[in-house]
Amino acid sequence: MHDKTIAELAAGLRERTYSSVELTRHFLERIARHNPSLNAFITVAAESALSAAAQADLALAAGTGGPLIGIPIAHKDIFCTQGLRTSCGSRMLDNFIAPYDATVVERLAAAGAVVLGKTNMDEFAMGSSNETSWYGPVKNPWDQTRVPGGSSGGSAAAVAARLCVAATGTDTGGSIRQPAALCGITGIKPTYGRCSRWGMIAFASSLDQAGPMASCAADAALLLQAMAGFDPRDSTSLDTPVPDYVAGLDGDLAGLRIGLPKEYFGAGLDGRVAASIQAAIREYERQGATVVEISLPNSPLSVPVYYVVAPAECSSNLARFDGVRYGHRCENPKDLEDLYKRSRAEGFGAEVQRRIMIGTYVLSAGYYDAYYLKAQKIRHLIADDFRRAFEQVDVIMGPTSPTTAFPIGAKMDDPVAMYLNDIYTIAANLAGLPGMSIPVAPVDGMPVGLQVVGNYFEEGRLLNCAYRLQQQTDWHLGVPVGFD
Ligand code: GLN
Repeated sequence: MHDKTIAELAAGLRERTYSSVELTRHFLERIARHNPSLNAFITVAAESALSAAAQADLALAAGTGGPLIGIPIAHKDIFCTQGLRTSCGSRMLDNFIAPYDATVVERLAAAGAVVLGKTNMDEFAMGSSNETSWYGPVKNPWDQTRVPGGSSGGSAAAVAARLCVAATGTDTGGSIRQPAALCGITGIKPTYGRCSRWGMIAFASSLDQAGPMASCAADAALLLQAMAGFDPRDSTSLDTPVPDYVAGLDGDLAGLRIGLPKEYFGAGLDGRVAASIQAAIREYERQGATVVEISLPNSPLSVPVYYVVAPAECSSNLARFDGVRYGHRCENPKDLEDLYKRSRAEGFGAEVQRRIMIGTYVLSAGYYDAYYLKAQKIRHLIADDFRRAFEQVDVIMGPTSPTTAFPIGAKMDDPVAMYLNDIYTIAANLAGLPGMSIPVAPVDGMPVGLQVVGNYFEEGRLLNCAYRLQQQTDWHLGVPVGFD
């Protein structure tokens, strides 16, 4: 059952080949067997999952229920889930039971999905390897000595190992696309504002965006369909109609203009990863697409700009964790200042503290103009590069990540090396554009992701590109040894 697409599972449920309770039990058993080694889940919600599945079976028997009725999924532990621990990968929220559901959680529940549990992640989504989690690193199911990518590493590993059908993720600088690439799955970061951020714990509010992680484009389309859409509770949510993503999957690609940014194929890119990307591009050419070299001249500045803007926003967003209202509180505080200091020092890990300090520094009087304001100006230049490129091309393609998954521990002592993982993904967040990672030919048995970036609200076109590639190739069908 775990090797099937959502459409196949939906048919099996409708035809009573199996019930949602049986399907849910099957995935819970896989989690029980494999999670002790992979560490992809922080919380497994067996009881509530089985009762949701029983409800789904009643709806199925009555011939009602949404498009995802009875399908077992998982949520990144950054989404608030009512009555279920929402830790955000942090000791700070280890004891936090959310009193309400995030909009994305609510909408997937309304579509009928069953929640198996909450997936592991880098603390407050800060990281590219899932090693900053308070709950320990996640292992990459393709090679358990390697990282799954981050920050949505638990979701990526869980989907790749088929511990759930699909999962949610969030992407502030690459956290859906990079782990999707490193674990060999399909992930899409929608346009900023496409999915509501309400109830999604904020890291960098002008960059954060939720999206689906799945084993194929058709499954991702079904999830995104349920997740997307206007939400009056999120003031940055956009009131633009959501197209029918499933209906658009099989559109003809003849005449599609693909831009290959020369900056994305230079030094730093592993040559074998580049060869996999080129092979995928040739498949698009066979399908009638044309390729042009383009330039995104300011893209080399995206990492430095991001590491001013994202920490600035996080220093403000994380100010709410003060030991007073909710979350970790230190023992026996001497006075209020001691309470703040020790609660935050104990509750936050090293990377989160580093970012809060950088963010506070770049926003402080005397440095604001030199760092924060300047970064905001360059952010505009980066967005302008894309605007110009999309006058010439329909989509931009390149690698998602410069290398395949690296060994656990390899980059933890070198934050700058870690930050460079996102060299190809961050620009789309700074510009607010949708981006996707699609599995292509592996290198030495390890997955590689092709990144496709589209113009605003062109999620449908990205899903169409991914679907057509997956119709002609079997790169997305690989399952890691031991998980088939
Ligand atoms: N790896 C990047 C960071 O550490 C992006 C994380 C993300 O997208 N949440 O900030």
